Amino acid sequence: MKPIFEEEKLFFEKKTGIKIPNNCWRNGTKIYLNSSNKELLIRFKIEDNIIKIVKNNIYKFEKNIVAVRDKKQVKVLHNYTLEEEISLNKNRLIFLENRSVSKSLKFIKKYRYHEKRLAHSGGKDSDVLFYIFVNKILPLLKNKDYKIDFNNTTNDTAQTYLHIKELPNDKLNIHNPQKGIIEWITEDKNYFLPCVTNRNCCSNYKEGRMKDYLDKDKKYLLILGMRRDESPDRSKYDYDLNKSMGEKNNVPENWKRFLPILEWTDIDIWLYILMNNIKVNHMYKLGYNRCGCLICPFQSDYIDLLTQYFYPFQWSRWMKIVEKNYEVCSVGSNLKWSLKEWLEGRWKQGKSQIYEITKLKMTKERIQKVMKLLGISEELAKKYFKKECFCCGKKLNPEEIGMSLKVAGQEKGFSNVADEDYLCKKCYCDKYNIDKKTFKNKVFKYRKDKCSLF
Ligand code: SF4
Ligand SMILES: [Zn+2]
Repeated sequence: MKPIFEEEKLFFEKKTGIKIPNNCWRNGTKIYLNSSNKELLIRFKIEDNIIKIVKNNIYKFEKNIVAVRDKKQVKVLHNYTLEEEISLNKNRLIFLENRSVSKSLKFIKKYRYHEKRLAHSGGKDSDVLFYIFVNKILPLLKNKDYKIDFNNTTNDTAQTYLHIKELPNDKLNIHNPQKGIIEWITEDKNYFLPCVTNRNCCSNYKEGRMKDYLDKDKKYLLILGMRRDESPDRSKYDYDLNKSMGEKNNVPENWKRFLPILEWTDIDIWLYILMNNIKVNHMYKLGYNRCGCLICPFQSDYIDLLTQYFYPFQWSRWMKIVEKNYEVCSVGSNLKWSLKEWLEGRWKQGKSQIYEITKLKMTKERIQKVMKLLGISEELAKKYFKKECFCCGKKLNPEEIGMSLKVAGQEKGFSNVADEDYLCKKCYCDKYNIDKKTFKNKVFKYRKDKCSLF
């Protein structure tokens, strides 16, 4: 949930032709009137690179009065200004600030001989963390030494670098990787792109970077801006991150990690920023929810539209890479997507079209699509829907179904293939005593030989 600032408002209105009131809030593809009462104004979706309105509850509005459709009635609501929202939440914000300060002080005092290092990503959470640390915590400490660490992903925008450069120069450490992410993908990975199920760039450019520049034998107190509200995984975190990670703790024991703003929600962060006039990365004004890697498989289609509009150079450079990846990785024959579909965002999932169709309920139309894409009979096409491994019960993907059909079909004919013939990759490898790489190579060979099961 974030406020819609002027630049994003203009972008949305230009793209949809729909006027929206000032001071609205957006959460994903939903636009709300205020942060507090969550009155839904608009729901939209992105299709074919266009914002399509699914629901528009705005009847009319003038100044701070908004009439919204509510079933068959029209109700009139007050559109709070951001100042009004701040004042409604002021007590909570002060309570949160006090709690963050007191918990941090306790932790810092406990580890007073550890070197304090504040992580800054260029995003809003880091801004709040930095603001509280410098203005509310540091004045209460005897030892005021600290350092700021910024990990350059090389996939950040000029606005992020500018914002980072505003931090105190004598404290700031910018950590650059040896190779930029674009060169890494095009040169080292031969255009094999990251996708949501294979985010190998994260381990190189984001996670675990600290280990490259911190000394494993030194004592550090790492102050981080992670929050429970960010993800289901993080919802289980505690202020003391090492403690909440338990056995999964992946840093040396002498590196202590503390999360001062753990309990803050997105709305708290925004209202606190506005209340204290904290300067944030300009990308938020444009509509971005986060300011990390600009182009990433985890970005939503809406954010990609913003990037096409506000960062056309980076976007077209990336589209050329995706186009090359389509050719080098034979996406058309392997995953059955057209170049247009791949460029329009299928690269982010990295799954085949057969997978996307067959994970859904079997319908006549979907069976026909599979028949057409693979060039197989109706009887065979039906076998690709919702199959499970006979040994372990795992849901099978189209490659595993193809392999199972290949083996059993050759042995006893396709019409005699039974439930016990379906195996997942692991169970297939165990049964035929091969490794997963050999399995992959077999699929690759069958595809090359134009076997229609793949
Ligand atoms: S592009 Fe996305 S997946 Fe890759 S490093 Fe950046 S955040 Fe991680
Ligand atoms: Zn299995």
